[in-house]
Amino acid sequence: MNPLYANLPTTIFEKMSLLARETGAINLGQGFPDAGWPRDVLEAAARALTEGYNQYPPMLGIPELRQAIADHYRRHQAIDLDWQTEITVTSGATEALAASILALVSPGDEVLMIQPMYDAYLPMVKQAGGVPKLIRLEPPEWRLTETALAEAFTPRTRIVLLNNPLNPTATMFSDEELALLARFVVAHDAVVISDEVWEHVVFDGRAHSPIMAQPGMRERTVKIGSGGKIFSLTGWKVGWMCAAPRLNQVLARAHQFLTFTTPPNLQAAIAYGLGKTDDYFTTMRADFARSRDRLASGLETAGWKTLPSAGTYFLSVDLAASGIALDDVAFCDRLAREGDVVAIPVSAFYAEAPVTSVVRFCFAKTDATIDAALERMAKARKLFG
Ligand code: PMP
Ligand code: GLN
Repeated sequence: MNPLYANLPTTIFEKMSLLARETGAINLGQGFPDAGWPRDVLEAAARALTEGYNQYPPMLGIPELRQAIADHYRRHQAIDLDWQTEITVTSGATEALAASILALVSPGDEVLMIQPMYDAYLPMVKQAGGVPKLIRLEPPEWRLTETALAEAFTPRTRIVLLNNPLNPTATMFSDEELALLARFVVAHDAVVISDEVWEHVVFDGRAHSPIMAQPGMRERTVKIGSGGKIFSLTGWKVGWMCAAPRLNQVLARAHQFLTFTTPPNLQAAIAYGLGKTDDYFTTMRADFARSRDRLASGLETAGWKTLPSAGTYFLSVDLAASGIALDDVAFCDRLAREGDVVAIPVSAFYAEAPVTSVVRFCFAKTDATIDAALERMAKARKLFG
């Protein structure tokens, strides 16, 4: 057996969802919405399933979807992509990440990774033979500094893995941070794999800034998106990679032997969805922002100190600031078993020197679920003293 996988624990999301099922606790761990997906997108998928084509679609993705992705980014982010040569559709952002890492990382290449990082990144980088170079962000600001970048970049740096907006911190990198990172990437002739699955889930009038739009980055960025995130349909697993033709050609080679294609009916429905008017996107953000505020104010009233959430489905409780001495793993375990609420310990997103005082909660839930969780969190506050 490959020791990398033989020694890998089950992902924290699966583990905590299992704990929720075992204990009957309310699951605010794994990030998935329990309402709010667009009915017309489901209907488009149903139509494409019963009336459409159900055989292998083109390897790069159905033309309709690639065109819709190009149009969508032109409209929402002022990025100009050639749908025929710069887009590959994948089975979720997870496959896009795997394909990008396999296609671009050779054994011995240094791969700069920013902690906390989504848990899928590190095993894939290691499997590709990459040498991880870790940058560590800290609460409450989670900011990227010039000093950290200068220490991490070396002449062997080939790839940077970026996640923006960032899961689990719910922060967005500022334009200054992105410009700074871009300067280092260009100076080192590196490439950024930019996981932007949360690009539409941003709040309070904020706009997502794709690093591809920074000077010098158009030819050295792989921009990754996820239809599941944009339409609150996380089970759908329709993702994509956007990159200059020189990169996209190689990405497609990796994709063709990972999954080759993605279900054509779901692709058709996402193509339809990406063309929805601005209304859908602003309403979706406003609805999530309302849920965020409901959970945040309820937690604060119950005596929990929360960290701000600028985007994603998540907001965090700062255990140290809340006067809790337990580490995040012990806290989440006890909270599930005695407090009947499941959350995610943020230390799971670190490979070394973890931050152990922050716990992530998902607010993409109905008001009734949030209120029931808040009732339990108020009781749990007494449990933890
Ligand atoms: N990257 C990040 C940062 C994520 O949060 C997620 C899922 N929550 C993914 C990738 C995976 O996306 P998908 O479900 O499209 O594979
Ligand atoms: N990305 C989701 C989260 O952060 C979970 C995805 C998964 O379960 N792999 O909660």
